[in-house]
Amino acid sequence: MTIKSTFVVDNAMRVLARFICVAVLSVASFIPCAQAQLRAGVAKAVITPDVHKNAVYLAGFGHNRVATGVHDDLYARCLALGAGMDTVALCSVDVIGLFYDDVLKIRRQVKAQAPEVSYLIVSCTHVHAGPDTLGLWGPTQLQTGINENYLDWLDSQIAATAVEAFRSMQPARMELSRDDHPLLGLLQSVGRPPFVKDPYLFLMRLTAAGSGEPIATLVNWSDHPETLGRKNTEITADYPHWLCQYVENQLGGTAVFVNGSIGKVSSLGSEVALQDPQTGEIAPDGTWRKAELIGTTIGQLVQRALASPEPANVDSIAIRKSVLFVPLQNDRFRIAGGAGVFAGRKPLYSNGALDRSSVEREVPGVGKIQFSTGQDLQTEAGYVQLRSRGRVVAEIAAIPGEIYPELTNGGITRYPGADFPDAAFEPTLRAHLKSKYQFILGLANDELGYLIPKAEWDDKPPWLLNKPERWYGEVNSPGPDVAGVVLRALVALIQQN
Ligand SMILES: [Zn+2]
Repeated sequence: MTIKSTFVVDNAMRVLARFICVAVLSVASFIPCAQAQLRAGVAKAVITPDVHKNAVYLAGFGHNRVATGVHDDLYARCLALGAGMDTVALCSVDVIGLFYDDVLKIRRQVKAQAPEVSYLIVSCTHVHAGPDTLGLWGPTQLQTGINENYLDWLDSQIAATAVEAFRSMQPARMELSRDDHPLLGLLQSVGRPPFVKDPYLFLMRLTAAGSGEPIATLVNWSDHPETLGRKNTEITADYPHWLCQYVENQLGGTAVFVNGSIGKVSSLGSEVALQDPQTGEIAPDGTWRKAELIGTTIGQLVQRALASPEPANVDSIAIRKSVLFVPLQNDRFRIAGGAGVFAGRKPLYSNGALDRSSVEREVPGVGKIQFSTGQDLQTEAGYVQLRSRGRVVAEIAAIPGEIYPELTNGGITRYPGADFPDAAFEPTLRAHLKSKYQFILGLANDELGYLIPKAEWDDKPPWLLNKPERWYGEVNSPGPDVAGVVLRALVALIQQN
């Protein structure tokens, strides 16, 4: 495993400009540095595929679930924040996930059109009723569900939306809020022990500095958008659709929802029970009404929390990222890659260099495939500080996958049956973050799969707590060591001066 740290802000001209700005401030502190004023811009674009042109394989649940219609449109929503010489653009996309390869491609397109964007984060809401952008839900287990034409178009739509958000930036005011209302946790069901959640709601509201006109509301909460379940074949953004609709109707501007620590956290199942005010009954599982009630309820909590926000006079942005190589220990992903399921994405690396070596292997029930033998996947951990006079007032942590909540919120637990019962605990992300407003973005810049604490890893019997069959999780994780690599890299980024 190799870690290479890269500071995005390495441009000499940018450093020089900042020095001049600071010098002006120190000589005459009453002369404001115009560039230190926070700027914000937002844009959104429809990314719904045409379900009548080609078969659209819906991502999530089983194979060969072909879309039959569109219930509500999918969107890419991008928020751009600028202060000083730095701009971060944050896009949230209503798809199941995007691999790092696509994010790098989107960044190249943004760089060509708006080189001033210092850092682009692309995170996915992880909807389970949108097109397959990872390849895993095609007609059969070893046929890709990716439509490359659509994915190319999607990548360029995301890039164009990020550029539009950047170009629409204007002087802005920021307000922050957070909430821990009990409903936030009650709407999350957790599928395996420990039954830890990360229920917090973090909010950032941007308004125009002069007119007070709403620009955007950034909403961060954690839950799988899969309320409609496997029987649904209509495209929908699930509860984020109603959440964004409610926030935009009530607060104006554009809502940008970013999902958080969603490993094993679901909106499915009767444990997530919401009473329908129209009928007085619990909204049945797997219904449009349940998705609507979840989205609207979170929207109401957003409105409630933003009734008493904290102003944040952000005057600088610190951007840090690490390009990481994480060990791929799950052979299921190698088989899928060898069969072409990822449509050429997820290449493997060894010792930090691209490694395309493979061996022919006979897979029972599949036949002969080229089994990639490289060691690692390349991915990225990202971290952004929003600062006011040097003090960190809010943070954004970009996690390249679906992280278990005990890794962000604390509560890793040792159980009988674990494969590595003595494994050291990974650092808890929230314990290392420095501010009150901690935006943790799941599926950001990559989708590695589940990030599981090593001490809870359970790929071999006996199963945790002597369950008769295996727990769900490891099958969709790159391996037991990946969470540690990602979290240690993030902590190193947080601790940099
Ligand atoms: Zn998932």
